Formats: sequence, C-alpha cells, structure tokens
Amino acid sequence: MSDALLPIDPGARRAILQAVEGLAERSTATLARLVAHPSLLGDEASCLAEMEGLYSELGLSPFRVAVDPAKLDNHPGFSPPLVPYAPGRENVAAIHRPRETKGRSLMLQGHIDVVPVGAADLWTTPPFEPSVRDGRMYGRGACDMKSGVAAALMAFAALKAAGLQPAAELQMAAVIEEECTGNGALAVMQALGKPDACLIPEPGQRLLTAEVGVVWAWVTVTGKPVHVSHKLSGISAIEAAFIVSEAFRAYEARMNEPQHRHPAYAGDNHPINVNFGTIEGGEWNSSVATRARLGMRVGVMPGYSCRQTKADIEALVADVARDPRMAGTDLRVEFRGFMADGAIFPETQGISQAISACHREVTGETLRPTAMHALTDARFYRLYQDTEATCYGAEGENIHGIDEWVDLASITEVTKALALLVAGWCGVEAA
Ligand SMILES: [Zn+2]
Repeated sequence: MSDALLPIDPGARRAILQAVEGLAERSTATLARLVAHPSLLGDEASCLAEMEGLYSELGLSPFRVAVDPAKLDNHPGFSPPLVPYAPGRENVAAIHRPRETKGRSLMLQGHIDVVPVGAADLWTTPPFEPSVRDGRMYGRGACDMKSGVAAALMAFAALKAAGLQPAAELQMAAVIEEECTGNGALAVMQALGKPDACLIPEPGQRLLTAEVGVVWAWVTVTGKPVHVSHKLSGISAIEAAFIVSEAFRAYEARMNEPQHRHPAYAGDNHPINVNFGTIEGGEWNSSVATRARLGMRVGVMPGYSCRQTKADIEALVADVARDPRMAGTDLRVEFRGFMADGAIFPETQGISQAISACHREVTGETLRPTAMHALTDARFYRLYQDTEATCYGAEGENIHGIDEWVDLASITEVTKALALLVAGWCGVEAA
C-alpha cells in the first residue's frame, strides 16, 4: 500500500471488502432513491431531504449548510447565482467524530444537482425513473454523480458492517449547484473545519491531474424589427447573433493554440471548449427579429484566470459591435453562473497516491492520469483552502446526454476503494 495510508489489519481489510459485497443490493437501492428525485436547479429540496434520511440511517446527525451570498459575495470563488437560495435548498452535511483520533481527517463530498434531461422523448425510459438493465442503472444523475454519493455512503456503511469506524474526523456533504456555480461546495467548505484532504467521487476511474475553469455569459443582441417585406430596412437580431457566434468560434480556436496550453494539457488538441448552450430570440416568423440571446459556456485554461476570460469576452463583444454588419444593433453581455478558475492536482499529493493505491488493490489496475476538459468542486479545496483534493468515481456513459447510465459493478469497485481509503487515511477503531 501507499505510504499515504496507515496499515490496516488484514482481517479487518477482508471484513471491509466483504461488507461492500454484502451491501451491493442496498447500494443499488440507495442510488435508485436518489435518482428518483428530479434535482434540477432550484428543485433540489426533496433530494436533500432524502440525503438527510440516508445520513441518519448511518447513525450520523445531518445538518444544513445554507448558501449565504451576503457572506460569500467577496470570495474569489463565488459565482453570481442563477436562482435565489430559497428555503429547502441548503446543502446537507454530516460529520463522524472518532473516540480517539489516530489518522487524518477526510471530506467525502458529492453534488446532488443534475443537469436538464435534454429531449425527454429521446430517453428509452423516463430520466427520473431509475431503470436497471444489463448491469447498468439508467437515469439522469445515475452516473454524474449520485453514483458517487451512494458509494461514499456505502463505504461508511461497510466499515460499520465490519464492526469498525474511522479513527479521524470524516466529513460528508451533499451539495447543490456543482453544475452551474459551485456555490454549494464553497459554502460547505467555509462552514466546516479544514480537512486533511477532500475526495469527490465524480464519475471516472482515473487520476485527476487538472481541470479547466469555466465562465458562463449571455450575449443579448437587439436589432430593428420591421415587416419582413421590408427586410432590408430592418436588422435581424437573430442574424446578428450568428455574427457574434463566429467571433466566439475564432476565440475558441485561438485559446486552443499550443502556446495557450498549460503543460498539464500539452498533448491535448482541444481542451478549451466554447459552447452555445441556449439560444432564444425572435417573435414571429414574418417579423424581422427584435432580440436574440445566446447563453454560453467558455472554458478557461489553468493559469489563465476567469477574470481575464471575462475581460476577453467583454472585449470580444465590443469588437463585434464595431463590425459593419452589426451597424444599428445593440449588444449587451452579462455574467451569471460559473466564474471559476482552473486547478492543478499534483499526482504526488497524498490523497492521489492513496486513492491510486486503493484502486490498484481492488482492481489490479493503475489509474490513468487525466487532465479534464470540465470542472469539479474539487477546485475550491485546492485554490482557496490549500487542501489536497481529487476526484475518483464510477464508470458510465452519456452524462449530460440521453440515456445516462452507470455501471453497477464499477460502483462496487469504487465503494471498495473508498472504504479502503477511509480506513487507511483515517485509521479505524471499533464501532
Ligand atoms: Zn458531476
């Protein structure tokens, strides 16, 4: 095992791994309970209440951690929210405290918010009716990342079933808004004591080495509406929006040039993605469109800040406004949602070494180092708390797509690795 882990008695090890096997059915049932909640942005309350129940079933005493913009507003990791932090939307956390501290403390965190389902009619089975077929569970969030939330719960349950408990503080938390701001994780990090490491069971059995930052922006174009029969005397906001999109395509190509790449992405041709996620506009098929609004997500290379990217976007929009084809239009840009920097996770940090060793013990395989094109809540711990952090979780496909699924056998593997990690990182004592 890794130097980063305490030695565990071989009998206790066997008992922990057997306990995970014995919990397979409960694990699948737990995941199904979570996937059944349509915990979309603003609608997380019932899933958070479910999490309170699940922590309580483990003998923990869950408590709420609200996101308070007044307290976080000046924090560099805070992102402008999309919806208010209404009652019921508070994160849920739980802390296990040992009788005697022998090892190091650990945070196991996961997000329970999910992204929209896309076109629901394209799903084979309804996205919030978890369906198990051929060793997979299908459903929105089944993989990203209710699978990881369930695995963390079952890792703790496995220790208990083996008559053990962590011999250090183990923090657990279910957070909101990982998919649009990260403010849930930020609030939890600020509210709880600093742990010695944080592991987030986001999907993917790989060794996280880096993640990009992200900025969300909306560009609104106002044109000049006229009857389509006099089209040439009007200005179509929709056609003008196409010109805006060209400018962002060119920016994307530029930011992917080799000289803009952090060494962690040296061998990667397209780490920075600009996505037009939403478009609204126009009023009537026979009217030249008055207004069009593009919602976009712009990737940010680690080492290049989100504030700089925000300035780039503002400069880009100002530039487009000077294009002769845009004459007579009005262009506005606003920023809400992600304002997030990228982060680097050194392979040499203790938590990375530790989870790699646990994965190798369970599967016989070595985790592949991976620099992600997306972001996770792990950044907060690295950037603002100087805490080691990484992600490691179950395998599946179609996250953010149609027919998202998770491989149930991989959840068992991940649960075993997490249980060994908790035991080796925190140490164990009799329950
Ligand atoms: Zn996720």
